Parts: sequence; C-alpha cells; structure tokens
Amino acid sequence: MERSFSCPTCGKCCYGQLPLAIDDTLAHADRFPLVVMWTPVRQGGRSFDITAELGITIKLRKRKLAAVQISPCAYLPPTLPCPELTADGLCGIHATKPLRCRTMPFSAYRDEADQADLLIPRSEWMCDTSPDAPVVYRDKSILDRQNYDAERAQLVRDAAILKPYGEWLLDSVPSLRMEIQKVAMKPSGGQVIVSFSTLIPRLAKVDIYAFARNQLPIMTAYAKKTANDPTLTDFHKRYADMAGEWGKIGGN
Ligand code: SF4
Ligand code: SF4
Repeated sequence: MERSFSCPTCGKCCYGQLPLAIDDTLAHADRFPLVVMWTPVRQGGRSFDITAELGITIKLRKRKLAAVQISPCAYLPPTLPCPELTADGLCGIHATKPLRCRTMPFSAYRDEADQADLLIPRSEWMCDTSPDAPVVYRDKSILDRQNYDAERAQLVRDAAILKPYGEWLLDSVPSLRMEIQKVAMKPSGGQVIVSFSTLIPRLAKVDIYAFARNQLPIMTAYAKKTANDPTLTDFHKRYADMAGEWGKIGGN
C-alpha cells in the first residue's frame, strides 16, 4: 500500500493545541502559552503500548490500566491559530519551528505502522493526496523518516524526565490521580491540564523566574483574547489563573 501527500502550506492545521518536546517549550517560552497535558488511553485502546512506553500507567477499576501520555503543550483552543501563523498561511518561525511541526503529517506519538489515517486531511485542509503528490508512506513505513526518527528519539529522552515527574506529581496530588481516572473512564476520553510550573523544578538549569517573566505576558494576552468569547470560557479562566501564578512567581 502506498500513500501520497504534499503540503501546499495552507496553514489550516496550525490551529489548536500543539504537543511540544521539552526543548521546544524552553526555546519558545516567550511565544506559546504552555501547560502539561495528561491524556489517558485505556488498556486495549489505540496506541496504548507506545503511550505506556513514553508515559506512565495508572490503575483503573476492575484491574484495568490506563496509559497516560504526559505532554508539554502549547495550549490553544481549536478555533485560534498558532501565534506564529502569518496572514498568508505560512509559518513565521519556519527555520526554528518545533519538532512536532516538522514531523507533520506523521506523529512520533504513534507507532510507524499506525500512521495511515494521519495522511487523510480534514475537510477544510488543502493537503494534496492525489496520485500526483509524492509517495510518502509505503507498506506501513515512512519513506523520508528523518523528522519522525528525530521526534521519536526526543520523546524517548523526554520520557526519562516526564515519567518520574508524572509518578511524583500523582503521589503528591491525590486529586490529580482521581481526575485522570475519571477522564479515562469516559467513553469520549479527554485530557487533564496541569500548570507548567509543576514541571520546571524537574528541568535542569531552567531559571523559573525568567521562565515566569516569559510566560506572564503570553498568558495575559490570551486571557484578554478569550475574555469575551462564551465558547472559550474554560480557556479564559485557565489563562487568567496561569497569568496570576506566573505573576506571583516572577515577582509582579
Ligand atoms: S510553529 Fe509554525 S508550523 Fe508550527 S503550528 Fe505554528 S505556524 Fe504552524
Ligand atoms: S493542512 Fe495540509 S496543506 Fe495545510 S498546512 Fe497543514 S499539512 Fe499543509
């Protein structure tokens, strides 16, 4: 089986939340509103094994397990574009864009053999999947694999930090474990959002005060941007809370 794909850079996939490698969060802390996203996958669900390998597992009822993906993330509502998306649909930081954006449309959060449906564009996306586009995926293998391999290697390195961080936070905050168990049991699944400030102490040589000074104006700007949109109330509250938290840490 062969799949063709090319990207005429319409920019339509540059909306909504963007999982980031830890190095990318640090490189772009003055750009993206950052959180840590916890996404449980129930045992037997798609990508359970790779999620458990890169993240942690928690017990559910009836001796079941959930694997939990722990991702640093640019926290954006699906209706808002990435702050670096230009008016003509291009990436404003193309040369330094995050690894996640470089690997698109593939994803190193999934096994290589499980990428085919990522090559099916959403209805409004303008990706070219016609036979005229280059073949990018054949017999469940990615043909140009440099970015996929780089992202997977980075996720494995990040797991060495995120796994002990996850276990530590679950032990420190029992309500978080209950919240994740609750989300894992929902038929539609979901995510639990945790402040990025919980992760900073686990990152070597990161100045939390400088980080707070980078995040404060971003969170404040997104709190303003979402203030009058009733569909974004949850996002607005989260941005406002995190602006308050970073303001306290940064000394404002
Ligand atoms: S950094 Fe660039 S490629 Fe990535 S989501 Fe933003 S605009 Fe798109
Ligand atoms: S939606 Fe498709 S064509 Fe548009 S930028 Fe994303 S990958 Fe490229």
